Amino acid sequence: MRVPKAGAVAAMIGLALTASGCGGAEGEGNIAIGIKFDQPGVGMREPDGTFTGFDVDVATYVAKELGYKQDHITFKRVLSNDRELLLEYNEIQFVAASYSINEKRKEKVDFAGPYFLAHQDLLVRAADTSITKAEDLNSKRLCSVTGSTSAENLRKNLAPKASTLELGGYSECLVALQDGLVDAMTTDNSILAGYSARKGNEGKFRMLGLNLSNENYGIGMKKGSPELQGKINAAIRKMIEDGSWEAAVKKNFGPSYKYEPAPAAVTAGS
Ligand code: GLU
Repeated sequence: MRVPKAGAVAAMIGLALTASGCGGAEGEGNIAIGIKFDQPGVGMREPDGTFTGFDVDVATYVAKELGYKQDHITFKRVLSNDRELLLEYNEIQFVAASYSINEKRKEKVDFAGPYFLAHQDLLVRAADTSITKAEDLNSKRLCSVTGSTSAENLRKNLAPKASTLELGGYSECLVALQDGLVDAMTTDNSILAGYSARKGNEGKFRMLGLNLSNENYGIGMKKGSPELQGKINAAIRKMIEDGSWEAAVKKNFGPSYKYEPAPAAVTAGS
């Protein structure tokens, strides 16, 4: 089975984005999928050009269930802040990028899933013992990413008085943390665990282990895609049932990451 070909649709309505040639994966039998490129363990473009991470494995499994062959899958980079836009403009057919399902986003995109449950947490420099709980944050400098639920939760609930730096991606926050520009960065524990465990980072950072929110990851697709949504939900269910989900979690998240069991109900939006 095939999802509608984004290239054809975009060409018909004359979208400049696709016409500019950023596409290339929209031909017959090809699919473009949005993932993060800088989140080890979750969605990562390695220096040798290969893709790794739990979202990559989920996206690959789903694409194959939809009928696409491995070498017909193109991964495109998304940022937290452009996931909705890239779907709307048919640059990608779906997105698997640590993307939390919530009501506000459902106004703009459809979700399949959830396929994973993460929790917002904080990462600090290993030697810094001045932050142990959320209440410590108001006097600190914090980094988060534009367009993420982490940034919104930080501003609205966690530390409205903290001075916050919002950057485009979490790897940029990590540099700011390492360089002492900020005292902590905040996002999902799945993402933070990946940075802590990354080769070269061992012993440099510390996660606080605070479950500050529930982040139910969904696969995002263009609004009004009930057929695709049903197929992706079925693929996620199958991935959980046949053991591939568990294998992907174990492969991608380090042994110290306490992951939640697979979501019991995969029914977002249906
Ligand atoms: N899961 C959160 C979100 O969707 C944070 C991770 C991210 O920004 O990708 O906003």
